[in-house]
Amino acid sequence: MQDKAALKEQKIREYWQENDTFQASVRNREGKRSYVFYEGPPTANGMPHAGHALGRTIKDFIARYKTMDGYQVKRKAGWDTHGLPVELEVEKQLKISGKDQIETYGVERFIEKCKESVFRYEREWKQFTEALGYWVDMENPYITLENSYIESVWHILSHIHGEGLLYKGHRVVPYCPHCETSLSSHEVAQGYKDVSDLSATAKFLVEGTTDEYLLGWTTTPWTLPANVAIAVHPELNYVTVQQGNEKYIVAEELAKTLFKDDFQVVASCKGKDLAGVRYEAPFSYVQVNRGHQVVLADFVTDQSGTGLVHIAPAYGEDDYRVVQDNGLDFVHIVDGKGRYTEEITSLAGRFVKDCDVDIIKLLAERNRLFNKEKYTHSYPHCWRCDSPLLYYAMEGWFIRMTDVKEKMQENNRQVEWHPGHMQEGRFGKFLDNMVDWNIGRNRYWGTPLNVWTCKCGKEKAPGSIAELRQQAIGSVAENVELHKPYVDQIQLRCECGDVMERTSEVIDVWFDSGSMPFAQYHYPFGDKELFECQYPADVVIEGVDQTRGWFYSLLAVSTLMTGKAPYKRVLSLGHILDENGQKMSKSKGNALNPTELMETYGADALRWALLSDSAPWNNKRFSERTVAQAKSKMIDTLSNVFSFYQLYQQIDQFNGEMDSGGVRSTLDEWVLSRLHSVTKQVNDYLEQYDITNAARELGVFLDELSNWYVRRSRQRFWSSGMTDDKRAAFSTLYEVLKKTAQLLAPFTPYIAEDIYLQLTGSSVHLTDYPKPFSELINTQLEKDMTTVRQVVELTRAARNTAGIKTKQPLSTLYVTTEEAVNLVSYLTTIKEETNVKEIELDEKDGLFTYTAKLDFAAAGPRLGKRVGEAKTALSQVSQDQLKELLITGELRLAEDIKLTKEEVLIEKVPSNHLELSEGGGITVLLDTELTLELKEEGFVREAIREVQTYRKELDLPVEKRVNLYIDASSSILDVLKKQEEMLHQHLVVQSIFFEKHQETKVVQIEGEKLQLGIE
Ligand SMILES: [Zn+2]
Ligand SMILES: [Zn+2]
Repeated sequence: MQDKAALKEQKIREYWQENDTFQASVRNREGKRSYVFYEGPPTANGMPHAGHALGRTIKDFIARYKTMDGYQVKRKAGWDTHGLPVELEVEKQLKISGKDQIETYGVERFIEKCKESVFRYEREWKQFTEALGYWVDMENPYITLENSYIESVWHILSHIHGEGLLYKGHRVVPYCPHCETSLSSHEVAQGYKDVSDLSATAKFLVEGTTDEYLLGWTTTPWTLPANVAIAVHPELNYVTVQQGNEKYIVAEELAKTLFKDDFQVVASCKGKDLAGVRYEAPFSYVQVNRGHQVVLADFVTDQSGTGLVHIAPAYGEDDYRVVQDNGLDFVHIVDGKGRYTEEITSLAGRFVKDCDVDIIKLLAERNRLFNKEKYTHSYPHCWRCDSPLLYYAMEGWFIRMTDVKEKMQENNRQVEWHPGHMQEGRFGKFLDNMVDWNIGRNRYWGTPLNVWTCKCGKEKAPGSIAELRQQAIGSVAENVELHKPYVDQIQLRCECGDVMERTSEVIDVWFDSGSMPFAQYHYPFGDKELFECQYPADVVIEGVDQTRGWFYSLLAVSTLMTGKAPYKRVLSLGHILDENGQKMSKSKGNALNPTELMETYGADALRWALLSDSAPWNNKRFSERTVAQAKSKMIDTLSNVFSFYQLYQQIDQFNGEMDSGGVRSTLDEWVLSRLHSVTKQVNDYLEQYDITNAARELGVFLDELSNWYVRRSRQRFWSSGMTDDKRAAFSTLYEVLKKTAQLLAPFTPYIAEDIYLQLTGSSVHLTDYPKPFSELINTQLEKDMTTVRQVVELTRAARNTAGIKTKQPLSTLYVTTEEAVNLVSYLTTIKEETNVKEIELDEKDGLFTYTAKLDFAAAGPRLGKRVGEAKTALSQVSQDQLKELLITGELRLAEDIKLTKEEVLIEKVPSNHLELSEGGGITVLLDTELTLELKEEGFVREAIREVQTYRKELDLPVEKRVNLYIDASSSILDVLKKQEEMLHQHLVVQSIFFEKHQETKVVQIEGEKLQLGIE
């Protein structure tokens, strides 16, 4: 069911639609400074979750705030539409799996399905985005599957190709056996998981011996059948060790670990002396002509394993290089689905990573296993399908990122990161370890790689549709479908006369999104001027998981294309966790549905919860309760203050725009001072992108406004007719509400709009963000009032401890403060708030006594044996001595025993009838003695409260003056009559009759029966 808040928000949304307020807020700033914002494109084939709510709230916040601050902030939405996620979704839909089945199903039909699936949840996304109040231009989004977008991406790739930075290479790359495609290193970086695997130390029999083995260590036993070499470090020391009947060659440093004390060194040499030693591999499934010998490699260490590394060139980058360098054979024993090929007879067709145990068993059967060990490590998994990745040597297309690494690092140094540690930390480190970008994917649904190749070795990379048409054999339509399989049919003419075919790959989807600064405006074919004024971005905002995703791909594409960083600032947001600090996920069942939360509590409450809870870069523990609290503490408070204003505004027909002035009270001056102090702080914080502290300042101010200013001002609004004081109260509250709505507009756009519209008739989002007037700020006044509020709080605490109701008046309150504040002017306020007759501000003797105890922990070590003596002496010191200790910080107990303030625990013990409470340098002592007079007054106040409750029950207009009838026992009536003036003062009455009325409500006060009548 929709809550009232959600309904109200819907009305505001309709107002925005009717008045085109979002577009007006952009048009409004035509010709003003641009603040450039890039939208990281979501995919619409999954539902929005709580993380999206955070991202979109922060994005909207920044854009609204910057707009109000005087900038023009264009906000183009975007959709990420290509890539494996879409293909996997369609595979699921069609109940097919793998490339063979896609080919059987038909690539053309498959692509069409992908296109349909892309916008599966578009409606939900739009509704979610609108409900959240995220203003972004969804009418004209950029869409990565559109020809214009693809054409821009082609332009960029063509540029990179022209620079010689796009090349085809044979390299070891991470590969997903389920998706049957290689991945880029930044994709791999997104999917590490801790897993438990087996490592093995295998025995490689040295040729020409029967008992001498090289001990080769591997963390991937399944690669052993593909062994081609053993690598040793040329400069390390190696020893031949005798253990039992066998001899083993290992690094000297590791011998002790491997053999404990049970061994004998029979020979030693340098690693380089082992080069070329030939051996018999443990498995002979595959014929190796050049190989099975010791090679030298610098990457070998003697820190773990045996100091000899098993080399399978197809499955490791180092392995691949060392085998290439030595001109040895290349052996590949795994098919495209990650299964052993037929050559591995006993394991053929099985997924290789599942075969570690089998391999180890086979080794043992052949007496080739020295040792096996379980170990836990962080292993990469596919970021989409969760399969463990394999490393394969294969052909692929790469962008030579290593050539622009320094430029990337330099560009990163110009970026303002929030949080700052990302720059050198997570992001910087990722750049330090940058490898070439594996850009091609052997898949179907994506931007086709625009490279055509010829048998003669020539390559062409057309950078536009026009170029493609020009170079094509035969005619190509202007609106040619640029996806597979259509684009594959286009052939180009090579200069050698032969026919060029397109290389079959599509590109990494991250290259798509990284190209958005250019492609969103169809650069360079579209509006170039628009592109230029929207590049680079002032800000990009996404989750921290985009460090290796979009943040990286944006910087990479831009550096390749222009040499410059595409953004000046990055806001990297934390994760939303559940109440127990667990990551939210659908499968765990702890995911919050942001749409439901908005329906129950309203978008403002959700936004406020997200913005005020903790810094956006921190991981947040989040729950429905957080949103409920935001609603009751913030949204409802503000809404109640505004309703209060409206109620009396209507009664008195006060016109805020026309009717200013009056004679302001200290309270008015205080609230205005606070308003402008808070305005200053909020502006300062937001300038630093410190949204959370800005929100907190506003939260504190709302509490002050509601629980102090309005509460203390109520009676001023109740008085009849318009006085100067009332006028001042009205105009002050009007001013405060108006400015508060403006300050809150980027945080809680709905309630801010609702209030501002009703106050002024125009949209708050078209106004300028409030700036402070320093002449209205009075820091002494603020300090005084803070102290007053603290005194009130402390007194309430004292009352609570003594168990005396608030309505019961008390005679005296004694207040002392350490700091110089002016409380004299606020005695009436304090009296009213604390319900006390007299306030004493001067220090007085006899209110309390000090007691002192020795702090053994502090004094013991210094005093040693004399601690007992000190304790006794301390129990006999006078009050004057203790006061002196407090002033001078020292107490002399005897000729040679002195104590410092830190060594004594001093407590104040209040005298009879007094209740003490202290904090923040303020001490209050409340006289709790009840005289008959005080008791009677307390009774009358309870009676007043009952009458007010009754009035509310009768639903009478607040300003209606009524006749009040009270009947009770004669002694009670005497009490009430004595206090008739007070009754008049606190109740909106015409006359009071102390007699019975025909319609009565019976109430009990302290055991006495009262019959109330109202007419
Ligand atoms: Zn996969
Ligand atoms: Zn050719």
